[in-house]
Amino acid sequence: MRKPVLVIVQMGNVEASNRYVRNKVKDANEVGIDAVVAHFEEDDFETIDQFKDKVTELALGCVDGIIVQLPLPEKFNDVQYLLKDVPARLDVDGLSGKPGAQTPCTPLGMMTFINDKHLVEKPYKRALVIVRSELVGRPMAKLLLDNDYTVTIAHSKTGMYTIQHLAQEADLVVCAVGREKFLDCTHVNGIVMDVGINFDADGKMCGDCYIADPEAKTTVDLRTPVPGGVGLLTRCALMENTVRSCEQFEEEMRSVKYEIT
Ligand code: NAP
Repeated sequence: MRKPVLVIVQMGNVEASNRYVRNKVKDANEVGIDAVVAHFEEDDFETIDQFKDKVTELALGCVDGIIVQLPLPEKFNDVQYLLKDVPARLDVDGLSGKPGAQTPCTPLGMMTFINDKHLVEKPYKRALVIVRSELVGRPMAKLLLDNDYTVTIAHSKTGMYTIQHLAQEADLVVCAVGREKFLDCTHVNGIVMDVGINFDADGKMCGDCYIADPEAKTTVDLRTPVPGGVGLLTRCALMENTVRSCEQFEEEMRSVKYEIT
């Protein structure tokens, strides 16, 4: 197979965004993907439509995947719109929501990890997904269902008492609320995948899940750390999606029959 090519579109100079891009380029180099960064400044475009046209133009070049790095400046901050005219296969972040787009990276990364490590090996597997967003909650719930989990989705109207109770019953908890010290895992019995990205009072990155009483003997099987947990799995999934997109392209090319008249 030829080397896959990934285009990373970045706008502005936000440190978080620079760090994400650096990491993605490093990941790509490690696994043999050519990563090309297309960097723009906010004043390179007057309107979001002009920026969208540039993203489309870059995608229609010979690439296997294109991503628009978030966060974006306010005026351009509509990633689904920016990817509107990008062919679905090339949306390797899975953010466009189009049929045929790759699976969103965060759920894909978690599901691959859970399956590869055989984290939950039971005939009846109960999962609690605390988030109902289009990019994390719903695709995660679907992947779990596809893997024979019995899935409950919780959200802001579920109530904390119910969430805490459901978490204790579950074999797997996925939590992506985006709130520090949201879920006390002291009495959770299964696996906890902590998706939240928050910053504590000291500016240190932390997740949503915590152990309220560090002295207590917790029953939790595994809790993914933040940083260094789901974020890493998300990065792996981006590489996986890019390679898959390249394979799909090659497969399509092989199936084309040329007629010479
Ligand atoms: P989002 O769209 O804001 O979703 C947050 C979810 O939390 C919503 O479903 C919301 O419920 C729910 N929620 C809010 N308050 C709640 C409460 N008191 N009880 C129960 N549920 C509550 O965010 P997102 O884009 O999915 O991301 C969520 C978090 O994951 C953020 O911290 C984000 O930074 C992080 N994230 C991390 C990665 C990674 O790679 N590690 C990737 C993506 C996202 P409603 O639907 O009722 O509002």
